[in-house]
This record gives sequence, structure tokens and C-alpha cells, in this order.
Amino acid sequence: MPGTVIVGAQWGDEGKGKIVDLLAERFDVVARYQGGNNAGHTVVHGDQQFVFHLLPSGILEPGKICVLGNGVVIDPQVLCGELDALEGRGRSVDGLRISGNAHLVMPWHRLLDAQSELRLGPLQIGTTKRGIGPAYQDKAARLGIRVQDVLDPGILREKIEAALAIKNEQLERIYGLEPLDGEAIFADLVRFAERMKPFIADTSLLVEDALREGRSVLFEGAQGTLLDLDNGTYPFVTSSNPTAGGACTGTGIGPTRISSVVGVAKAYLTRVGAGPFPSEADPERAARIREVGAEFGATTGRERRCGWLDLVGLRFAARLNGLTELVLTKLDVLSIFDTVPVCVAYRLRDGSVVQDFPAHQSDFHHAEPVFEELPGWGADLSGVTEWQNLPAAAREYVRWVEERLDLPVSMVGVGQRRDQILEPR
Ligand code: GDP
Repeated sequence: MPGTVIVGAQWGDEGKGKIVDLLAERFDVVARYQGGNNAGHTVVHGDQQFVFHLLPSGILEPGKICVLGNGVVIDPQVLCGELDALEGRGRSVDGLRISGNAHLVMPWHRLLDAQSELRLGPLQIGTTKRGIGPAYQDKAARLGIRVQDVLDPGILREKIEAALAIKNEQLERIYGLEPLDGEAIFADLVRFAERMKPFIADTSLLVEDALREGRSVLFEGAQGTLLDLDNGTYPFVTSSNPTAGGACTGTGIGPTRISSVVGVAKAYLTRVGAGPFPSEADPERAARIREVGAEFGATTGRERRCGWLDLVGLRFAARLNGLTELVLTKLDVLSIFDTVPVCVAYRLRDGSVVQDFPAHQSDFHHAEPVFEELPGWGADLSGVTEWQNLPAAAREYVRWVEERLDLPVSMVGVGQRRDQILEPR
């Protein structure tokens, strides 16, 4: 498939990293289109483990072009750190291309992120405090500093001064902090600029040319559908558009260039932080899912809330992204249960039962889950290498999801390793 988007179909943490890594092998170009170093995946390559927060997954494949699109926000310090770490381990980073239109995460963004969360007290959104949200705010406010600005020291200095005139006032007057030193920030950036320069390119043109020449491009989204700024469960969302449309704006290509959209979902559901979660499991079973599925934040260590697959949410994801296929990960985790509940509809406050995601937050807040109980398979799946060898009940679970969503499931995860992926046929 020439232009394929891969997107999380739930609240993030779907196990996308492994799937992207697997798919990346089959594509000529991998392009990230949104988010920043608030994403993160661990990739096991041979006997080595790599953790990326910013670099696209395919970076480990020799000869692959890996794009950080204009929709990504880049913390130059984190980027240079990841580049140094990879090169330090003898890996080439030659395939990297960075959009000159991507915005930079600046030191004031990190500071303001932490301070504004503190201020919200109990109303905290639970941001990762890496400055991603404030960087996107400044992008919309037309105060941002872009990658291309580092190519011209005169412009860079001017932009830092202009931004700091406002930011320092905020830091001092609102938060009672020391002002930031513009010259020190400038000096650091000039250093990072040297490192980034060779990789800066017209990535919109690069992606378009690749597709025109018949090469394949994988567009990689971070976070997940329900965290989409416009269509997710606002205000508990991220500050960009992980949904498939974001692949177009975030890389500078037209929608007709996308030929397929792969959604990745866990065979159950997790959510981090506050907010409604209709299919949340009772505390005892939630704890078992958490333990077996290792549902703790990768960077924060925070416990994830755990529950059952929610077809209402997945139907919504299929609509928002125009999904053409679904990947179900972590089916093995459900092996511990005799029966597996799945949320098939919501009962709203007025007693109506709906299969479509509520358009209004207060309806979602009060939605009661309608469950169907499916038979469990009670067998360890970790050694299964062929779809046909899955227990019948496990295959039926997957087929049943396909039918209910009218969406083919193209891959099923049965363990952490790269080879623990089955293709239903
Ligand atoms: P991501 O950001 O969407 O990749 O999600 P996470 O960071 O939460 O990663 C998911 C975790 O689940 C990682 O530790 C993966 O190794 C693991 N994982 C991925 N697929 C499977 C699977 O099919 N079964 C099991 N048991 N673990 C998996």
C-alpha cells in the first residue's frame, strides 16, 4: 500500500510501537506527523533494545528514509541526544529528514508546562511536562520558533528575544520564577543547529516525490484517537491531531495520497488519568489485567486504568480515521479470564441504548456500558505461531470483533516479541 497511516485506535498505549516497527520494514519511507517526545516506544532489534521518544521507528533500518514532519514538535536537546545515543552504538542516522516547518520545543515551554499543571491542582490534565502543549500553543499563537529558524542566527536571536519578552514576564509575574537568559538559550541552539542542519529538508516534497515514484510511505501517528485535540475526549486530550487527517496536515500531503489506514487497538482497553471510562473493569479484574499486561506508564510508571474492549469507542475510531483494517494487540493478556466481557453499546441517562459514541461530554460521562460476555480460551497463547493454532474461542473473539465493527483484523498480537504476531486468514 503506497500511502498508509498507522494510528492508535484507543487512548494510546495500544502497543503501536511494535506494529510500526514491524510495518516499517516493508515501507520505503516512515514519516511521523504529530506529537513530540511525549510519545515513546521501545524497539527490540536483534539482541539490542532501543527507546525512542522522537525518532521514527524505521531509523534502525539501513537505507530507510525517516521523516519528522512539519506537524511534529521537536525538542532539539532530546533529538540531539537520541542521535548521539544511536551513533554511539554504531548505528547510522543518515536516513533522517527533518521538516524546516516543524516547531521547536523551547526551554520556556518545558517550564511553563510544569508550572501550569501545578496551578491546575486537582484539575490537572496529566501532561508529560515536556513542553509539548505550550509549544503547540505558541504555534497557534504565531509565536513559535521553527526548525528553519536555526539556519539563520540573526533571525534566531530576534525570535528568541521576541518570545522571551513575553515568556519571562509570565515566568516572573505569574509563577514567581527567575527569568530565562536569552543569550544562553541562543548559544545552546546554535550548537544543536549544527547537529540538525544536515537533516533539514523539504519533507513535504520528499514524501510527495516518493509516492509519485511508486515508493511506499508509512505515516506514523503518536498517542491515540481518543486523545485527538478536536475529536477526542476533551479536555483529556493531547495538543495535536493523532487521527488520520493529521497525517496530511502534519506532513504536507493531500488526502488523496493516503490509500489505507491501519488502526491499532489492544484486545482490551486502558486509560491513563482522570475522565470517564465506561468499560472499566471492577478493581479486582482491573488489577489482574494491569499485572499480566504490564499496564504501567512507560516513562511515568503510573498505573493505567484497565477495562474491557469497547466497541463503541472502536466504531468511533473507525469513523474518525476511516480505518481500512484493525490490528489487535495483547490478546494473550485475556487468557487469564474464563469469560471475556466486551462493551457493545452505551446506555445513556435518558435510557436510550446507543452504538455510536456520544457527541456530548456529559452523555459520555454518564454512559453505562452494555456488555456481552464471550467465552474465554483459558490457554497460554505465547507459543502460538500460526493463526490456525489459536484456541477456537480466541479465534472466535477476533472474528466476532471483525463482524461487529465490519472491519478486517489484519494482525493479532500474542506476546511482546516481534514474532508474536499472527495474521488471521
Ligand atoms: P505504544 O506506545 O502504543 O507502543 O504502547 P506501549 O508503550 O504501552 O507499549 C505496549 C507494551 O506492550 C510494550 O511493552 C510492548 O512490548 C507490549 N506489547 C505489544 N504487543 C503485545 C502483545 O501482543 N502481547 C503482550 N503481552 N505485550 C505486547
